[in-house]
Amino acid sequence: MTTDFAATRALFDLPEGIIYLDGNSLGPLPRAAIERLDRTARAEWGQMLITAWNRAGWMDMPRRLGDRIGRLIGAPHGTVVLGDTLSIKVHQALAAALELRADRQVILTDSGNFPSDIYMAQGLIRTLGRGHVLRVVEPEEVADAITEEVAVLMLTEVDYRTGRMHDMAGLTDRAHQAGALTLWDLAHSAGAIPVDVTAAGVDFAVGCTYKYLNGGPGAPAFIHMAPDLADRVRPALSGWLGHEAPFAFDPDYRPAQGIDRMRVGTPPILQMAALDAALDVWDGVDMSDIRTRSIELSQAFIAGVEAACPELVLASPRDPLARGSQVSFRHPEGYAIMQALIANGVIGDFRAPDILRFGFTPLYLSPEDIRRAVEILAGIMHNRAWDRPEYRRRAKVT
Ligand SMILES: *Cc1c(COP(=O)(O)O)cnc(C)c1O
Repeated sequence: MTTDFAATRALFDLPEGIIYLDGNSLGPLPRAAIERLDRTARAEWGQMLITAWNRAGWMDMPRRLGDRIGRLIGAPHGTVVLGDTLSIKVHQALAAALELRADRQVILTDSGNFPSDIYMAQGLIRTLGRGHVLRVVEPEEVADAITEEVAVLMLTEVDYRTGRMHDMAGLTDRAHQAGALTLWDLAHSAGAIPVDVTAAGVDFAVGCTYKYLNGGPGAPAFIHMAPDLADRVRPALSGWLGHEAPFAFDPDYRPAQGIDRMRVGTPPILQMAALDAALDVWDGVDMSDIRTRSIELSQAFIAGVEAACPELVLASPRDPLARGSQVSFRHPEGYAIMQALIANGVIGDFRAPDILRFGFTPLYLSPEDIRRAVEILAGIMHNRAWDRPEYRRRAKVT
């Protein structure tokens, strides 16, 4: 292993005494982001005012940061751009893909997809009003459901609840053989596992940057288009910054070349500044080291929990190669157990109806953290410490 995980851990500002197993939902604060936000606010926004769009390179950030993320997902230079939220990027990619397959009606997805992706598809179908159908099958049935009716295969590579991972290259190949396009959501893949959209031949990929990439709450999403498609796509959200010449203020829309046409409006500069600093953490990091260490940590967690808490049922694939970088267990009192865990310094999260979800992020988690987390969870289960009314009260965010 060439990655120095003690060094990467020192780059994060984690609260004392907390074991953070929720970096798959909101990555922690990189120390450099604080300083970078301060500088962007004071020296750029404060002192340069509007001239910072040029002088501080603000206008180029969506592409420059896109290339930094491209390295982590195997996307060539100039094929990734940042902006908006992931839900918006799903809409853009799906609309583009459907138009490229105008003679087909079916969007194929699976029941493990994240609700927002499914909702965006449902909304787009109604907006288009052209009789598209969303076909939702079980994850194991996806391969067989790829027929010549399918316009777009829209999947999230790693299931947000169970961590189950699809064979992105295999399914993409199968979709292409059937004449369909592919849209992959990498929300739980980018920064979690090695990804190579180019080798897999993916047409569209989207993902968020506030999970494993630690860009902070509300950090912008990314979108990638295969280079051979980029200039053929008509952007559904034809905003001025995706125009060929935004500052010509032309009354007619003409799409920019390549991935730039997936830009919409003014980029969130403070969020991008924080993300830029967060991406520095990845500079010396080898994704295969991340994968090796993530498997080591998650296997140790599963073995520890199964030995000490037989009432918790593994909801994730047992084979580490069949899952991403998270592990889930089921229990009917999952919500209360998670609240008790959080009260005792181990932060994971809960996903309805009964899933306790734990993310493994080698950048700042050590085998010792995992051993401690198992010990605390085992203590809570043995003493039924979760069985208190205050742990059953549902908060707005779970
Ligand atoms: C986290 C996540 C989202 C969230 O979308 P936002 O628009 O950023 O809130 C969407 N899809 C998937 C698969 C996710 O994991």
